[in-house]
Amino acid sequence: MVDLSRRRLFTRKAARNDTLRLPWLNAPERFIDQCTQCEECLKACDTQIIVKGDGGFPQVDFSIDECTFCYQCASACPEPLFAAEQNEPWQAKAVINDQCLAQQNVECRSCGEMCDSMAIQFRLEVGRVAQPKLETNQCNGCGACVSVCPTSSINVSNHVA
Ligand code: SF4
Ligand code: SF4
Ligand code: SF4
Repeated sequence: MVDLSRRRLFTRKAARNDTLRLPWLNAPERFIDQCTQCEECLKACDTQIIVKGDGGFPQVDFSIDECTFCYQCASACPEPLFAAEQNEPWQAKAVINDQCLAQQNVECRSCGEMCDSMAIQFRLEVGRVAQPKLETNQCNGCGACVSVCPTSSINVSNHVA
C-alpha cells in the first residue's frame, strides 16, 4: 500500500521554493506548503502557460507563450494563495545570457520586437551588430521575449533588488 503522507512529503521536498510559479502569489516562499495541486489554475490560464512543474506543483513555462496578466489563475484558485489584482503581480524580470545571437555578432532583434514594455532596446556598437540592452525597471516579467528567442537566451526569474 502506498503511504500517501510520505509521498506528499517527498513531492514537497522535490519542489523548489525559488521557482517562478504564478503571478500575484501572497507568499511565494510558502506556496508549496499551501497549494493542493488541484490544477484549477492550469485549466484557467489564458495562454496555457501553466504546467505541472517540479514536485507536481504549477509553474509558468514561457517557452509556450507569455503571461497576459489576466488574473484567471488567481480567480480560479480555491485556496487563499493570491493577492488582490490591484497589487503588482510579481518581481520577475528577464535576463539575457551570452548565448544571444547579437552577442555573437549575428543580427537578431526578435525579443525587442515582442516587448510591449519597451524594456529591450537595441544599441548600435562600433564593429558589431546592434546589441540588446534590458532595462530591468521597465520589465514586468511577462515572458513574451522568451519563446521568440531562437537560441533560448532569455530566462525570467524572481528578481532580488
Ligand atoms: S495571469 Fe493569466 S496568463 Fe498569466 S499565468 Fe495567470 S492565467 Fe495564465
Ligand atoms: S531574441 Fe535572443 S538571440 Fe535574438 S537578440 Fe534577443 S536575446 Fe539575442
Ligand atoms: S519579460 Fe516581458 S517586459 Fe520583460 S523584457 Fe521580456 S517581453 Fe519585455
